[in-house]
Amino acid sequence: MTEKLFYEDSHKKVFTAFVKMCRPKGEYYEVVLDRTAFFPEGGGQYADTGWLEDSKVMDVWEKDGIIYHVTEAPVEENREITGKIDWDMRFMKMQQHTGEHIVSGLVHARFGYNNVGFHLGSGDCTMDFDGEITKEELREIEWQANEAAVKNLEVQVSWPSKEELVSLEYRSKIEIEGEVRIVTIPGYDVCACCAPHVKKTGEIGLIKLTNVQRYKGGARVTMLCGFRALADYDSKEQHVKSISALLSAKEEEISQAAGRMKEECGRLKAVLAEKQKRLLEYRAAEISGEETFACLFEEELEGDGPRILMNLVLARGIECCAVFLKTGDKSWRYVIGSMGEDMRPVAKGLNEEFCGRGGGKPEMVQGSLQGKEEDVRAWIEKKARRTKE
Ligand SMILES: [Zn+2]
Repeated sequence: MTEKLFYEDSHKKVFTAFVKMCRPKGEYYEVVLDRTAFFPEGGGQYADTGWLEDSKVMDVWEKDGIIYHVTEAPVEENREITGKIDWDMRFMKMQQHTGEHIVSGLVHARFGYNNVGFHLGSGDCTMDFDGEITKEELREIEWQANEAAVKNLEVQVSWPSKEELVSLEYRSKIEIEGEVRIVTIPGYDVCACCAPHVKKTGEIGLIKLTNVQRYKGGARVTMLCGFRALADYDSKEQHVKSISALLSAKEEEISQAAGRMKEECGRLKAVLAEKQKRLLEYRAAEISGEETFACLFEEELEGDGPRILMNLVLARGIECCAVFLKTGDKSWRYVIGSMGEDMRPVAKGLNEEFCGRGGGKPEMVQGSLQGKEEDVRAWIEKKARRTKE
């Protein structure tokens, strides 16, 4: 059995131990020590990383009480070595994990919901509860969780006997073989858990619940604790400041300013559409009534413009009309319509000739193609002549 130093002191960063075994495993090595501060995966907290001397520890796992360190390089057997855990990473995980206890304890006490899933991800943490939580309720839970943090309560660890456990009220009450480790945050949570936690709740820092959504008939809550919450505040502050500068609005008024801007944008779009329609009426009036197949190349049409122009031309009694809108160097969007003829063969022919795609109904086809204006125009004119004959 490996002696678990992380249970004696969750803040142990450096330790010495005796190397009992080192064997190759695939491209890595497995190292067993007589004691270790490296925590293997458990309680939703993933394994520590760090170093055994100069050899990097990539992963840690436990089987039958023996802890295996997966290292990049071998370490010498039968001698003392120094181990060092990646403390920043471990402390971050303990902050999130202890925060999760407080939030789950509060949710359990208030609603009776159980935490049925905890995921400590590389960006944030999620907790799944077997009941729904509203946004307002979440704000209240968040406030209470932060009260627990500032009270700087001691996180207590105990190993009650089987008899004591029977009468003890705690979360995660499942049949666990051997001793059960109980983690208590006085007034907030009592839970069976095997992972290391911070010693005092003040170490968690800010507990920010950033989201709640419906999930599998219950709720999924997203949380950031400590420096993660600070980093999130920092990033959101940058966004607010830059939006505030862009809108020339006070930081606390950017929502209203963005709302007004959206409204103004909608109004301008309507004005532009109306002006474009009037312009297109003039454009359509320029088309000679002699033509049977009008072919128009346009560069500045917004939204529905190409289709509106096509309809205006057809309304003048011209049999077929193709409108090409420039979308890039030699690339075009097209819409082709006719009052009587099937335009689908025209689209098919165009697509084949000019690497295009698209189709539609007999009276109207739409698509995109690649080609020079003069080549496309020549192709359409040839097609129009053939149709006439
Ligand atoms: Zn825990």
